[in-house]
Amino acid sequence: MRGLRLALNTSVAVLVLSLPFAATAASRASSTVGMPIVATAVTAADASRAQPAARGSIAASRNPVTVAAEGAHPIQEVTIHEGDTLATMANFYDVSIESIAFANGISDAQSIQLGQTLKIPPAEGALYTVKDGDSVETVAARFKVDPSVIMSYNRVYFEPEHFAPGQLIFVRGAELPSLQPQRVTSAVLRGPSFAGAPARTGRLAWPVAGVITQYFWAGHTGVDIAAPYGTGLGADDDGVVTATGWVAVGGLHVCIQHVGGLESCYYHTSYVYAEVGDKVARGQIVATIGLTGVTTGPHVHWECKQGNQFVSCLTQ
Ligand SMILES: [Zn+2]
Repeated sequence: MRGLRLALNTSVAVLVLSLPFAATAASRASSTVGMPIVATAVTAADASRAQPAARGSIAASRNPVTVAAEGAHPIQEVTIHEGDTLATMANFYDVSIESIAFANGISDAQSIQLGQTLKIPPAEGALYTVKDGDSVETVAARFKVDPSVIMSYNRVYFEPEHFAPGQLIFVRGAELPSLQPQRVTSAVLRGPSFAGAPARTGRLAWPVAGVITQYFWAGHTGVDIAAPYGTGLGADDDGVVTATGWVAVGGLHVCIQHVGGLESCYYHTSYVYAEVGDKVARGQIVATIGLTGVTTGPHVHWECKQGNQFVSCLTQ
């Protein structure tokens, strides 16, 4: 059984990734073959290591490290441990599931395995290996960004060879293919806590087997259930997704319409795996516990409406 807890301590091996010198060495004859191209992707403290003194004259006119290091994090390589999922990794490193998937050539979120190492992009965007025939313009067009984004982040202005076949570049803000939401479902995200959720025949299932921290009452339109950050939230019953997205106070939410005019919504989620119009089955993971909106701790505000009337989800 896969848990959802991401080891937040040092058991996640984090290293600054050295870009693929070996892969490109054979095809590149110049003496700069071994140069790490992501001097721009490491922190300022690392810059002296990554940037040889010989570049000083270039940097003097305009310091590329300073320009690109704003908001930049190193590319990290992490090992999948028990309980890790693409969702928990994305939560922890504050990038989308899609960007991690893209960086690692993953098209099926369930395919990640214990011990596998994943590259974590330095920010939201595409870690991309330049192919034969690529130009800055074609890659920019592919990811729907301005060419200058690629040029500056990867120091192409200063080192044209940083855009050569085999080189790993980072395209910040790239538009990425979305993973099939239904594929990122129970097998990966169903944690031990969720598996224990009672199937309440005739009533809504709890989205998560957590701890109720606030019941439905006149001053509270839903039921609050606390559970660890990133825990999957199962659909409380079969239905059709009627809303997703951000709302004030509630944060990231998802709503499901059930038969008989009952609608349930989950608020404060960290991620939503469904889109409006999706049919979801009872127990199918549609979101993960988060902290979005106004909340003091990770929990789901589970809200039910019958017609226009708020009702307690626990009695439906
Ligand atoms: Zn609440």
